[in-house]
Amino acid sequence: MTIFLKDGNIRSTQLVKHAENAISNKRNVKEERRGIAKEEFMSSISIRTCTKCEGTDFVKSGTKLSMEGRWQVYQCKGCGHKQRGELLALFHSENGAENILRKTTETNGEQTDVLIHQAIKEKEIVISLPYEGTKPSEVTDNYWIYAKGKIGGKHQPITHRSGKWLIFVGIENVDEVWAKVEKAYKEGKLGPYAKVATAKPNPNATNPETKVICVYTYDWTDEEDVRRIREELRKLGITNKIPYKANEDTLGGKYIVKGHAKISKYYE
Ligand SMILES: [Zn+2]
Repeated sequence: MTIFLKDGNIRSTQLVKHAENAISNKRNVKEERRGIAKEEFMSSISIRTCTKCEGTDFVKSGTKLSMEGRWQVYQCKGCGHKQRGELLALFHSENGAENILRKTTETNGEQTDVLIHQAIKEKEIVISLPYEGTKPSEVTDNYWIYAKGKIGGKHQPITHRSGKWLIFVGIENVDEVWAKVEKAYKEGKLGPYAKVATAKPNPNATNPETKVICVYTYDWTDEEDVRRIREELRKLGITNKIPYKANEDTLGGKYIVKGHAKISKYYE
């Protein structure tokens, strides 16, 4: 049997079935990888005995925030020692990385620095890996999808002076623009990585009708590299003026106020 597609092509139902199966299998594998990653993470941190006195009697004693997320804290009834128990929420499932960073900064003052930001970023990338190739409009359980630079691509290793071009896209266009950015990453044309906001409502977002794509560069002081990446984005059809932010400014608190005005290193 054959069916007629809108574009005038003819496909056998078998071929269509085959394609449907392939898509469904890919989705199942992704779901599975996501599940395993979370399970491994959760099982590595369950509480058993007190690390000081080896007692096994505990009372719950509040929660603690770390780079990984929010933890249950337990106090040993024997010696009073407090230690972390299970992870209550992976940071990405309850808070965006920036949100965690802000809370950590509030708690520890300026001690929070680029290294913590980098660590959060790395973690966020690992958690986002199973979402690679998924349309941002279809992801509702994770705030970001990442694209990583191809090994052997043009980008340099990331430094503490990294920054990003910010592309704000109407929610109806985000899949299309992200697909172009992703393709450019596969071809090794952009920087170390990029991320796109998904359909998961983010309390830090300025406007729910707009999604942001962040295209990172390794060092904001390398103007040539910053402009090279801007030029690649232009080739993808992003021709309106867009701002560039250094992560240092983000970390310095200038970005904590919602929005993106006034602190751009570049705007072109
Ligand atoms: Zn104890």
